[in-house]
Amino acid sequence: MNRAVVSPWVDALLGADRNQRVRVTQSLVASSLYLGFSAIVWLGVAMGVIDSLPAAGLTVAVLGASVVFYAVIRTGQNLRFTGDPALTEAQGLYCVMACCAAYLVAGPIRGAMLILLLTGQFFGVFSLTPAQARRTAAVAVLALGLTMGWGAYSDPVRFPPQVELLTFLLVAMVLPTIGWLAGKLSAMRAKLRVQKAQLEGALTQNRLLATQDELTGLSNRRHMTALMMAERARQHRSRSPISMVLMDIDHFKRINDGCGHQAGDQVLQIFADVITHGLRAGDALARWGGEEFLLMLPNTSADDALVCVERMRGQLAARSFEHIEPRLAVTFSAGIGVCDLEDRMDAIIDRADRAMYRAKTAGRNRTVVA
Ligand code: GH3
Ligand code: MG
Ligand code: MG
Repeated sequence: MNRAVVSPWVDALLGADRNQRVRVTQSLVASSLYLGFSAIVWLGVAMGVIDSLPAAGLTVAVLGASVVFYAVIRTGQNLRFTGDPALTEAQGLYCVMACCAAYLVAGPIRGAMLILLLTGQFFGVFSLTPAQARRTAAVAVLALGLTMGWGAYSDPVRFPPQVELLTFLLVAMVLPTIGWLAGKLSAMRAKLRVQKAQLEGALTQNRLLATQDELTGLSNRRHMTALMMAERARQHRSRSPISMVLMDIDHFKRINDGCGHQAGDQVLQIFADVITHGLRAGDALARWGGEEFLLMLPNTSADDALVCVERMRGQLAARSFEHIEPRLAVTFSAGIGVCDLEDRMDAIIDRADRAMYRAKTAGRNRTVVA
């Protein structure tokens, strides 16, 4: 889960999940608007401009809906609506109904209710899809038309038909414009999402290229150097030995010459796979050069490193290369150097390298400890 803990009471109000917090906050902003709206309605009642009975009904309806929307989102029930988890469309439609009802009961200040209606539409601008935005705008125009028509029909004194018609035409022109803007923004958001995903993919790819060997998937020389430096810093605290093992595949040129370069590549991949499977947590293996690999074994003495490398030798011997070339056997020579606190890292690799060449001259397929 995407967690963002600020303080316990904010967590209790908004929840801990970052995405849900945005939705809960949006519902709370809408609720505070409804609260302010109710207060103004009751001020209107106190001034004798609005009747108290419809005001009470309106207050119960808007505050009740606020509580319901908050509860649904805060408990995560909204996540079932995958197309609009913020319930923006539902909240927008509810706002339309509430504003239409308010328009009928607000008396002389009913024109101000249209501002609330437009505000409700603006909520959708940032999260509705173009289709949802168009639908909400269409419902708003229809609902408002019916409301005004009903007002003019049932009470033409309070709702003069000409005034209602002109007001309706004006709002009917603005609402679809907001819907169109919402659609534009939605398309922009979708484009940005795609670009963000592409950038993240490119970043991951770049990171891999900077740290990985393409053929084997092992760490490359640069990344291994960074790992060694980090391990070296740990060693200064733990004062435990680090064994460095340089491994070189024997007569690899013959494999290339006899079976082809592609077969050579496959052998390198299998070699990397076998050695990787013999690693413990904390060990690291890198492709150091063409057919040369560097193994870092933290907290490991030379004797333990020797046991480890010989176990890997056995695992490689047991691996079949028949699918590349019948009777192909792949062996390697290794040199082990142990890193003491005062040694430089390059000096220890140099020592492992010399030990590896002694293994070569001694007949290959063996390990020599420096
Ligand atoms: P030795 O036992 O003394 O190590 O002999 P060798 O043949 O293994 O060593 P040598 O250095 O003579 O040859 C290594 C060869 O590895 C030469 C080079 O073309 C080949 N090589 C280096 N990188 C790659 C690679 O990525 N793929 C393939 N297929 N071959 C590679
Ligand atoms: Mg070799
Ligand atoms: Mg070599």
